[in-house]
Amino acid sequence: MQNLKKTYSDLPKDFHRSIDPMPVIKPKLICLNHELANDLSIDTTDEIQLLQYFSGNEVPEKSSAIAMAYAGHQFGNFVPQLGDGRAMLIGELYDNEGKLKDIQLKGSGVTAFSRQGDGRSAIGPVIREYIISEAMHAMNIPTTRALAAVSTGEHVFRETALKGGILTRVSNSLVRVGTFEFFRARQDFQNLRVLSDFTIDRLYPEISEEEDKYLSLFNRIAKKQSILISKWMGVGFIHGVMNTDNCSISGETIDYGPCAFMDEYDPNAVFSSIDRQGRYRFNNQPKIALWNLSCLAGCLMPIIQGEQEEREEKIQASLEETAKDIDLLINEEMVRKIGLEHSDESETLLQDLLKNMHEDGSDFTLTFRSLIAASEKKYEGFLSNFKQAGRAKEWLKDWERIINNQKTKDQNNLAEKLRLINPIYIPRNHLIEKAIKDIENNEDDTFFYQLLEATSKPYLDQKNMDLLSLPPEEEERVTQTFCGT
Ligand code: AMP
Ligand code: MG
Repeated sequence: MQNLKKTYSDLPKDFHRSIDPMPVIKPKLICLNHELANDLSIDTTDEIQLLQYFSGNEVPEKSSAIAMAYAGHQFGNFVPQLGDGRAMLIGELYDNEGKLKDIQLKGSGVTAFSRQGDGRSAIGPVIREYIISEAMHAMNIPTTRALAAVSTGEHVFRETALKGGILTRVSNSLVRVGTFEFFRARQDFQNLRVLSDFTIDRLYPEISEEEDKYLSLFNRIAKKQSILISKWMGVGFIHGVMNTDNCSISGETIDYGPCAFMDEYDPNAVFSSIDRQGRYRFNNQPKIALWNLSCLAGCLMPIIQGEQEEREEKIQASLEETAKDIDLLINEEMVRKIGLEHSDESETLLQDLLKNMHEDGSDFTLTFRSLIAASEKKYEGFLSNFKQAGRAKEWLKDWERIINNQKTKDQNNLAEKLRLINPIYIPRNHLIEKAIKDIENNEDDTFFYQLLEATSKPYLDQKNMDLLSLPPEEEERVTQTFCGT
C-alpha cells in the first residue's frame, strides 16, 4: 500500500472533505481477497499491517483519507448534498493492466457528510456486499469489488446492538451521477468541467480530443449503464436503491444495500423494505436507468457545445438512442439465455417462457440453467420448474424448432453456450443470511467460504455444492432486505 495515488484528493477543495480517521477497538480480518490484492500489487504477507489499514486504524503513507462530495435524487427527490457519510477514500492504486482503481473503506466512521449517521456499518451488510459483489464479478457483471472485510470489535446501534464491520471496496471510479448533480445544483460550471475532464481522463481517454467531448462523455456513460442493466436483468438481480447517488459513471454496480437476486420469477419483484411504491422493482430498472441518465444529461447540458436549442436536440437524440439501446441489449441478453440469436421469433418465444415462468412461479436461475440438459434431450429438469407441464412441453417443442432453424456453425455447441450464460450458483438471499448468521453468532466462517467458492465459479457444476444451487425452503425464504445503514 505504499504506491497510493491521490488524483481525487488533488481536485479542488469542493470535491471532498478530509477525514479524521476513527480507530476501532479490536479489528479482526474476516476475509482478504488475495487475488484482487495481487492484481493491485498489494503485499499480503503482512496481514497484521493490512488489518491496520483496512480497519482505518492506520492510514497508509501518502493516503488521502477523504470523503467525496455528491448530491443525488433519492426515490425521485433531489437532495443537494449527500456525500460519503460512512466511507473514506484512501487513494488509488494501479492494477496489473495499468488501470487506476479507487480504494475506499466503508463503515470507517463519521465524516463531514454523516449528518445524523454514525458513519459505521454492521457486519451483516459488509458480508453481504462482499459475497454479492464478488459473485457479480464472477458473472462478468461490472461491479465494485471487495478487497477486505473486517469486524471492528465494536457495536453499532440500529434497532438492536449489532456487531460492527468495515468493507474495503475497489472501483474503476466512485464518481456518480450525483457527483455531477452536486456541482450542477450549485451552478458551478467550472468544477463541472473539472469533474468531466477528470472522468474522461480516468475512464474514457479516447474521447479527450473530441470537439464535443462532453456529449461523447454522456454517450459513453449511457452505453455503460445500458450494458449494466441488461446484465442485471439477465441474472434476475434487483438493485433496490437506484438513486442517482448510487448510479456510477463507470457503469459498475455500486452500493449493495437492499439488493437481491430473485428466486421465483416475478417481473414486479421488490425486496427493499424502503421501496414501498416499487419504484425500483425488477422490471422498472431499465426505465429508472434512463431516468437517472436524463438527470446526468441535465447536468452536462450547459457544457456541451452549441446554442441552447442545439444542445437540447443533441441530448434528446442521445436519450432516445439510449432508450432503444437498453431495450435491445436486454432482449439480446435474454434470448442468448435460451441459446438464440435476436429476432422477432426469438423474442416472442422468450416472452412465452417468461409468462409461463411467472404464472408457474418457476425459479429464474434454475429454469434457464435446465435448458442445458434440455438441449441434450433430457427434459425432466426443465419441466420440473413448471406446474403446467403440458404448456412447458409445448414451449420446448417451439424452442427446438427455432433452435434448428437458427442453427449456424457456431450454434453447434448449444449446451456449452447455455452453460456460459446461465449460472447455477447465485448468492441467494437465504444463503447470504445463513453466512451472516454463522459469522455473527458463532464466528463460524465455513459456510461463508463455501458460498464464496460456489458463486466465484457460477457456471461450473461443483461437487457437494447442490444445496447452494437450490431455492429456499418455505421457512428459509427471505422476503425483505434492508439498507446497509
Ligand atoms: P446509501 O443509501 O447507502 O447509498 O446512502 C445514502 C447516503 O446516506 C449517503 O450519503 C451515505 O453516506 C449516507 N449514510 C448511509 N449510512 C450512513 C451511516 N451509518 N452514517 C452516516 N451516513 C450514512
Ligand atoms: Mg450510496
